[in-house]
Parts: sequence; C-alpha cells; structure tokens
Amino acid sequence: MRSGSIPGARGRVLPITLLGDPVLHAPCEEVTEFGPELERLVEDMFATMYAARGVGLAANQVGRALRVFVYDCPDDEDERHLGHVVNPRLVSADGILLRGPEGCLSLPGLEAGVERYDEAVVEGYTVDGDRVRVPGTGFFARCLQHECDHLDGRVYVDHLSGWRRSVVRRKIAKAPWGG
Ligand code: ZN
Repeated sequence: MRSGSIPGARGRVLPITLLGDPVLHAPCEEVTEFGPELERLVEDMFATMYAARGVGLAANQVGRALRVFVYDCPDDEDERHLGHVVNPRLVSADGILLRGPEGCLSLPGLEAGVERYDEAVVEGYTVDGDRVRVPGTGFFARCLQHECDHLDGRVYVDHLSGWRRSVVRRKIAKAPWGG
C-alpha cells in the first residue's frame, strides 16, 4: 500500500462469505506472489471491512483462500490498531484466558462468549514483502486470534461447546442467512 493513502479508499466492496461456505472451513494458501494483485486484494478487503463496520477481515471472508487479513481495531485502552498481515503466524497467545463477546462478519447479527488469551503476537509480511510484527492486548489480541483462526479454516463457533454451542446453533438456524 502506498504510504499516505487511506486504506480501502480505492477498494471495491466485495460480498462477504457466510458460515457454511466451504472457503471459510478450509485452511487458506500461503501467498507467494507479492504485487499489484495482492495490493488490490488488501484494498478491497479494507473497503469491505469498513462498509460492513467490522474491526477485522480475513481473505476467505471475501472468497479468496489466501493467508491475508486486515484490521482496524481498538484495544481495551482504546488505542487504535490499523494494518494488514500477509502470511501471518500467531507466534504467541498468552496471558489470561478471558471469555468475552465476539462477533464475525460471516455470522451477521450474532455474538457469543468466546475464550481467548488477552495477549497475542502475530508475525508476517506487508504487501510490499517487508517483515511485520503485530503485538496486541485485550480486544485487539482477541481480534488477532480470531483472524488467524479464519485463515486456518476455523470460525469462533468452533471454539464453543455445551450450551453455548447449542444456543448459537439455534440462532444460526433462525438467522435469515442460516438454516
Ligand atoms: Zn470473523
């Protein structure tokens, strides 16, 4: 991305894939080609995330099975974190395991209490191929773990068990997009 440009300003808003779409439930491929096409995908992902009022978005949520995510997410101190990671690796998830409300653009209108660590570090690359390290705490740490999960073909529902899973499954069945 060119420095100084507003992320997503030149991007297209793409349709968001919904729970049950196979692309959300299989691991994504490593990115091997860095160039204009990747830059454009990241721009489109920002535009799509902002249009949907999300705080993070993975490439398979716009139907592309590639290991890329974007974020514009506050932490618990209200500090804003904005960026993207190509071929991210969750190198650490640590601290306290906290259950907190979590939603996902691929399960619109729903939320459930999901356990996540309150500290996380992701390492990867920018669209320019530069190495990047993204540490996060609180809600932003939750976001980093949620997005890395997407690229491994997991959604937050997969973390739920017992009554929490039953409740969310019932809500999905009743949702206009579910069933
Ligand atoms: Zn999600």
